[in-house]
Amino acid sequence: MPDAHVPVIASDAHLAHDGLVELAGGIEIPCYESPARAVAIRRALEAAGGFAFAPPDDHGLDPILAVHDHALVDLLEHAWADGQAAGLDPHRPLLPDTFLTRAYDGGMALEALPVRRHERLGAFCFDTATPLVAGSYDAARAAVDVALTAMQRVLDGAGLAYGLCRPPGHHAARSMYGGYCLFNNAAIVAERLVALGASRVAILDVDYHHGNGTQSIFWERSDVLYVSLHADPGDAYPYFSGAAGEAGAGRGEGFNRNLPLPGGTDGAAYATALADGLAMIDTFDPDAPLVLSLGFDTFVDDPIGGFILRTDDYARLGALVRGLDRGVVALQEGGYAVEAIGANAVAFLEGLVGRRVAAPASV
Ligand SMILES: [Zn+2]
Repeated sequence: MPDAHVPVIASDAHLAHDGLVELAGGIEIPCYESPARAVAIRRALEAAGGFAFAPPDDHGLDPILAVHDHALVDLLEHAWADGQAAGLDPHRPLLPDTFLTRAYDGGMALEALPVRRHERLGAFCFDTATPLVAGSYDAARAAVDVALTAMQRVLDGAGLAYGLCRPPGHHAARSMYGGYCLFNNAAIVAERLVALGASRVAILDVDYHHGNGTQSIFWERSDVLYVSLHADPGDAYPYFSGAAGEAGAGRGEGFNRNLPLPGGTDGAAYATALADGLAMIDTFDPDAPLVLSLGFDTFVDDPIGGFILRTDDYARLGALVRGLDRGVVALQEGGYAVEAIGANAVAFLEGLVGRRVAAPASV
């Protein structure tokens, strides 16, 4: 594996998913989740060498509908066009301004959602950070194809494949989008691996934020283990999930493992927690490639993260995951320090593939 080029699956469809603004703290700010992120990663991998770029194959809608409700897919596909037909400004993104919360519903037998999909946003979206524009649906479809194509490369024998997914996915649940995520790329890959015959699939999530969507999708499942390292939700987005005691339910009890970490966590402390997470995966003994939700918002200069990892740390973390000695489908999630995200991706992937890493991590 170390001498072969690492397959990198990427699509330019993401360029048209440029949300322009998000609402944070009541203020309209430029989107942290921008096309520049994926462009920076691609440039850094090209400059580093050793990575073989390829476009995604078309996998169709079925793998998406195995994870997401049709109503969510329908909304994401048609909300923009419905808004335009209703006369909305084509230069402004769609953001929800009402939310169908649990308290709103309150057990009432509500009969119907609005006919026009752009007026349904608040029934499917959980935050004000996830704008939709004309190119969002195609970008989300392409990100899923990127992820599934990376999966296929690993099934075909590559030890590692990297899907440069954008938009990211781990905050998206069965019938909910948000957190910059439209479709849950990692969950779709895991579900596809099960459909292809795997009986134990592990997802390791190293994004700074808790992957509430992934947790939700597999909450009652024992065939998909979800292990997540993330900022303690007591004081970090997405706030409502990610506590250590959330272990799954029913048959899924014990197959959801949250490892929340305090603000200020550094590379050494993170590596210790990662070793714990990897031991859980080793015990689970997956019979499919590892699905890795790979975020870099744990970086010290990330504008929305609170950890202090540095570029060298990512090489060590990659090497730790390599120690599992399993195939890895690495899928891009968050990371918003655009000036550093490329170097961080190179470091992690080179650690993962065992290249240019001076010594294994000693943690
Ligand atoms: Zn994140």
